[in-house]
Amino acid sequence: MTVADYVLPHSLPEAIDLLRRHGPRLLVMAGGTVAIPLINEGISQPEIVMGLRRAGLDRFEATDGELRVGAMTTLTALTGRADLPLLAEAARHTASWPIRNLATIGGNLFTPPPGGDVAVALLALDAQVTATGPRGERTLPIGDLWTGFMTTALASDELVTSIHVPIRSGQTAFHKFGRKAANTPAVVTVAAWLAWDGDRVTEARIALGAVGPHPIRARAAEAAIVGTPLGIDTIGAAAAAVVDEIEPFTDAIATDWYRRRVAPVVLRRALDELAGRAAKEVAAG
Ligand SMILES: Cc1cc2nc3c(=O)[nH]c(=O)nc-3n(C[C@H](O)[C@H](O)[C@H](O)COP(=O)(O)OP(=O)(O)OC[C@H]3O[C@@H](n4cnc5c(N)ncnc54)[C@H](O)[C@@H]3O)c2cc1C
Repeated sequence: MTVADYVLPHSLPEAIDLLRRHGPRLLVMAGGTVAIPLINEGISQPEIVMGLRRAGLDRFEATDGELRVGAMTTLTALTGRADLPLLAEAARHTASWPIRNLATIGGNLFTPPPGGDVAVALLALDAQVTATGPRGERTLPIGDLWTGFMTTALASDELVTSIHVPIRSGQTAFHKFGRKAANTPAVVTVAAWLAWDGDRVTEARIALGAVGPHPIRARAAEAAIVGTPLGIDTIGAAAAAVVDEIEPFTDAIATDWYRRRVAPVVLRRALDELAGRAAKEVAAG
């Protein structure tokens, strides 16, 4: 079956109305970097494709303590954001410039496993996702969006319209391990956010990609470092704990066996980087 129609709404209400009218026959397309190859290969066979690029969903908006990022914001736009260093770093490690010019933050949430790299960073930042449909708007923690392998909590007549990123002080690190240095799918991705009080970690959020059905939090690894000065022993404990938290899989990029061995190494690198930076800051007073 070929796509019979392409629709390009000029507002969000128009987009929601089209989605309501056409239901599952309509495929939402953001940048199309995932959607178009799937259509070309016949894996996805929508009757109608709805492009979102004119729907006005590509704005940044600073509100109380958070930055609202429109779902159609491109990864290229994220790379330049000094106020979102973890997202900027994650975007820089995603695909290549031509892809990043099209690819969106919203589309990255739905990227097939091993999952989107920016989505992993958003999970570490405790972002919230706003979905809009005919019944209105609802906001959910990003961790509640993914419900399983390629399944989400989004209803078939809803769109992700924005992602809310809390603006909080803290240290972040992003480490992606792939088979090439750049423009490479992840074997393992680690994004971490830490809050400190002096030389002790008071809060930690560690997210991992490509080692589960969707981006996951490494809660045992987080527990291993909270309350500690993040030394060799606690980093080792976190790396050991993460092995039991992941559900690695085999794909064209790596085997589950390999991912299970690489995940603690990548986590250790991220935590070493954060510990080194914190030690420098404490020394500098
Ligand atoms: C060569 C190549 C390399 C890549 N490398 C990487 C990489 O290193 N890291 C990485 O993370 N990804 C990578 N990708 C995947 C992809 O480019 C990104 O994940 C991108 O962010 C997807 O966004 P998009 O706007 O193109 O999504 P689209 O292709 O437009 O959409 C993807 C899916 O999300 C759904 N969707 C999109 N937006 C919304 C919305 N607002 N509401 C509801 N559903 C929506 C669509 O219906 C579709 O099912 C790569 C892709 C290519 C082609």
